[in-house]
Amino acid sequence: MAYDDDNVFARILRGEIPNKTVAEDEHTLAFEDISPARAVHVLVIPKGAYVDWVDFAANATAEEQVAFTRMIARVAEITGIAETGFRVISNIGENGHQEVPHLHMHVLGGEPVGRMLPRD
Ligand code: AMP
Repeated sequence: MAYDDDNVFARILRGEIPNKTVAEDEHTLAFEDISPARAVHVLVIPKGAYVDWVDFAANATAEEQVAFTRMIARVAEITGIAETGFRVISNIGENGHQEVPHLHMHVLGGEPVGRMLPRD
């Protein structure tokens, strides 16, 4: 899938849409989900234009990949969920029910997140 420069996270990265930033570094931004599914719900995104995990794994630099991985743990520490536990989810493509076509990890916690994965 080609990257869509008008997706909402690209617009957040350009500063066209506000966000509640939790943490940021050279390669990565973490911000609160606008519609939180749990008490803590933070999205971690690379600043580079990657559609999903497959694109990121193939095309991001090692430095970007390390920064992204570390940011997930940093978010858990900042939000206080590292000790109590949390879930990291990345929805990919149609079957994965990905709505925004810019790679993001959902970091969810602050309360029990439930079992994996109930059928609708
Ligand atoms: P996904 O279904 O994995 O693509 O998830 C997209 C997520 O982006 C959803 O949890 C939305 O609530 C969230 N979202 C959409 N627009 C915004 C926004 N402007 N700021 C923060 N989160 C957003």
